[in-house]
Amino acid sequence: MAAQTPGRGGVYLDYQSAKPVDPRVVEAMAPYFTERFGNPASLHGVGDDATATLDSARAKVAASIGALPEEIVFTSGATESSNLALLGYANRNRRAGDHILISEVDHISIHNIGKMLEKAGFRVGKVPPDQFGRIDPEKVRKRITPETILVSVGWASNEIGTVQPMAEIGEVVAGTGATLHSDAVAAQGQLPIDVSRTGVGMLTLSSNDIYGPQGVGALYIRNGVKVAPVAFGGGQEDGLRSGTENLAGIVGMAAAAEIMSRELPADAARMAALRDRLVREVLAAIPDAHLNGHPTERLPGNAHFRFEGVEGESLLLLMREEGISVATGSACSSKTLEPSHTLISCGLLHEEAHGSLEFTFGRWSKDSDVDSVLAVLPGIVDKLRRMSPLYNKH
Ligand code: PMP
Repeated sequence: MAAQTPGRGGVYLDYQSAKPVDPRVVEAMAPYFTERFGNPASLHGVGDDATATLDSARAKVAASIGALPEEIVFTSGATESSNLALLGYANRNRRAGDHILISEVDHISIHNIGKMLEKAGFRVGKVPPDQFGRIDPEKVRKRITPETILVSVGWASNEIGTVQPMAEIGEVVAGTGATLHSDAVAAQGQLPIDVSRTGVGMLTLSSNDIYGPQGVGALYIRNGVKVAPVAFGGGQEDGLRSGTENLAGIVGMAAAAEIMSRELPADAARMAALRDRLVREVLAAIPDAHLNGHPTERLPGNAHFRFEGVEGESLLLLMREEGISVATGSACSSKTLEPSHTLISCGLLHEEAHGSLEFTFGRWSKDSDVDSVLAVLPGIVDKLRRMSPLYNKH
């Protein structure tokens, strides 16, 4: 682990929304803003250097997930990767069928791409989870028809942390004509991901989720899986993603991927220990508190609670006053008043979904962060409950 702790102080437990870039990654990127700024398309030596750098970065990112270099397309991030995966694949394979399956607990980006696919004439089905947010492979099997060309299930929930049985879902899809895509963003850096051991044909990756810079991502496309581009221009990335490559960003993603591969077991173990302590002590200290998501099949860095009779937003604001940054759910949906679609799919009522708070740990999280939460959270919940018309157990 890097000695220096990034950040401006305070207690940061919202690693799922944004992560600091690892100082070692910043160091690896630095020369590519100034000395080694070339364009891989240029035919001179500076361009050759950029091409070699791009090739080497592609190989590193590929190695981190057990893929081949030619199976990696660099993008501007997870959202673009998933657009290329779902829209690009659907457009290219339309003649094979018009049915696509996504999961009810997937990230909003997948849901909104699903709406675009429906507008384009595809039929999009959603597989519901169980109460813990898990997708049963049998439910996937039952919904696959001869017209199903694509199944997309996120590897893990960025909100409630539930991890999906990807290998089993891969086996179900492998027996059909469909391709399996997974948004692996929430799982990256927390769970080992090896595409050669699962049946995924496409995988969405993000750089920031492994402590690389924002605005860079990649899509793994297994050899033989056919995808059409969704943006057009100079034909970079084998024609699949036009636009001059963000070389410094890509170098950063590759450096982050290398560090992740080395440090994942230790990172995951440290996060799991913090998570387990937080869950144990919060549930013991606060009455009528519940853990959302799966009790065991969950990301090492995720603890997601529901507190009866209080609103997540009020909790977040009072935690903020104490210098503790947490989330009520997905940052991508935090400015809407809608309850989380993930929690509603798990069977929670609207008011229950609104009473949730998400803690996510990362590479620099420490025991004292948990101490800080435990020192204030029980009092904050109690204070809010005393004012709440929804809570009458005092
Ligand atoms: N998928 C998941 C699971 C996410 O958590 C996020 C947000 N970090 C995204 C996709 C979208 O990522 P980005 O905004 O970087 O494109």
